[in-house]
Amino acid sequence: MIYLDNNATTQPTAKVVEAMLPYLTDCYFNASASTAAFTGAEQPQSDAANAMAKLLNAEEPDCFTFTSGATESNNWVCSSIARSRKAGRVLISAIEHASVAEAAAEMARAGFEIMEIPVDGHGLIQMDVLGAALLDDTILVSIMAANNETGVLQPMGDIGRLIRERCPSAVFHTDATQAIGKIPIDLQSDWQDIDLLSFSAHKFHGPKGIGGLYIRPGIELDALILGGGQQQGLRSGTLNTPALAGLASAASEAVNLEIVKIRNLRDNLETRLMEAFPEAIIHSKSVARLPNTSFFSLAGEDGEEVADRLAISGIIVGTGAACSSGAIDGSKCLRAMGVPHSISSGALRVSLSKFSEISDLDALFSNILNKTTGPGKIIPETKKRL
Ligand code: PMP
Repeated sequence: MIYLDNNATTQPTAKVVEAMLPYLTDCYFNASASTAAFTGAEQPQSDAANAMAKLLNAEEPDCFTFTSGATESNNWVCSSIARSRKAGRVLISAIEHASVAEAAAEMARAGFEIMEIPVDGHGLIQMDVLGAALLDDTILVSIMAANNETGVLQPMGDIGRLIRERCPSAVFHTDATQAIGKIPIDLQSDWQDIDLLSFSAHKFHGPKGIGGLYIRPGIELDALILGGGQQQGLRSGTLNTPALAGLASAASEAVNLEIVKIRNLRDNLETRLMEAFPEAIIHSKSVARLPNTSFFSLAGEDGEEVADRLAISGIIVGTGAACSSGAIDGSKCLRAMGVPHSISSGALRVSLSKFSEISDLDALFSNILNKTTGPGKIIPETKKRL
């Protein structure tokens, strides 16, 4: 299998698997038992918190509450703020992942005023609209750091400064699921105005079903799950020690980002793509993007069909509908960018990781080229077979 869909999920590293195993075998004990210091079961949580604090340069390990992942963290942010405030205005970007957009829609049903901040044709937040929308009654701003489809990076520092200038009391949340492990993040430098940050370990070579929420010291959130009082009472329930051990290992390894290697491969892909398919469109190419992501449309193609055909040949890429199971209405991000359906329907996403090799791209190209008669055209029989 040639795996080129690393924005959907990544392969756990050998070290991650090795780190998890003891907590599935010999050290299966409960991390909240009074004997945890003796059994060693409390180690994974503190390792995970320390590793995340180091990776993101957070103030202290206690800033991290662990959840099942970014979906849960994003829902928690909205539900907690909805419970603790009576009314107010919530600003989200027009390209948020469904776990923010749907949670905000729930806040709208509860009577909060939700406004979607549009993006421009490159997928960047329209800062003038955001500035004008930041009125005194704004309680929450949620803007993703990196888009899962295009990889576009929002200027988190500029956004944070604008929020602090116009509406200092608003809580600033970012869904950083796609950014962690791909770009450097410093919560005490350019990202210092962010109050809450969501993440999932499986996007940076950790296990699935574990992630968390960074909560800046001084920010109060209502508990997500009530019960035995684990995690300072914020999210009760027996800790998932194998997953936490895997997260700790993945976060430690993610300090070495390998950006240059990955970006060179991505650039190689895009150069070859434009040579082979001069009419191809690479979305958001001229703005700051994740180094691993290329989102492009081949003229006259159906992205889903091409992705299916590649999958049959053992090559996994993403499409505009990636990340939301069963989604059939194409790329949310391209729609928000104003890209016409005729182009967005041909969109394919190649997302690389540190395990990607040039031979993976060779295989991708020989497969795409073998099955086309010219720039962007599939041989009719091939189409019929699928
Ligand atoms: N936010 C973004 C930007 C994502 O890409 C994803 C995963 N596709 C999520 C949130 C949700 O992550 P998880 O499914 O691990 O909860």
